[in-house]
Amino acid sequence: MKKIMIDMDDTILADCYLEVVNEFLNAHLTYEDCKDYWIDNMVPEEKQKEYLNHFYNEIDIYDYGHVQENCIQVIEELTKYYEVFICSAYIDHRDIENCSKILLYKHKWLLKNLPFVKPENYIFTNRKDVIPVDIIIDDKVENLKSGDVKLLITAYHNEGIPKKELEALGITRVDTWNDIAEILLNH
Ligand SMILES: [Mg+2]
Repeated sequence: MKKIMIDMDDTILADCYLEVVNEFLNAHLTYEDCKDYWIDNMVPEEKQKEYLNHFYNEIDIYDYGHVQENCIQVIEELTKYYEVFICSAYIDHRDIENCSKILLYKHKWLLKNLPFVKPENYIFTNRKDVIPVDIIIDDKVENLKSGDVKLLITAYHNEGIPKKELEALGITRVDTWNDIAEILLNH
């Protein structure tokens, strides 16, 4: 069986960080207000400490946002033909002491929402590039290094990357989980 590694944030789920930031700031920010990959950089410098404390000690990030359309069904189907791994980063140098707390929320969310993926197949690391798998699905170009098939799911921070640039890296853009099903389950 071929091995697939699937990212969590902005691949399986969407909008979690944006909703947390908006609630914390009592604001209505959109992705257009976000200048880079890091949504929480929209929190002003003077509020960052309070924000990080809120983020790691007061909330479960996965109570926010939503699951991408058809994602759960497609992943369940994928488990019939592939060995599915879920790989999610958690190291946050802004609060290296507390960032591991998010592991509990990731673990809990996966157990509840993807019961057909073995917990042994959860991988929590920022170094996705060192894991040899056949297929990777991620929203971050930098994570699409190993793997024969590299699928970049469209997200706010990668929309502007031209097709040519992705092609040169051997990456295929997918907009939805239906596109992923089309590529990986169409046999
Ligand atoms: Mg991601």
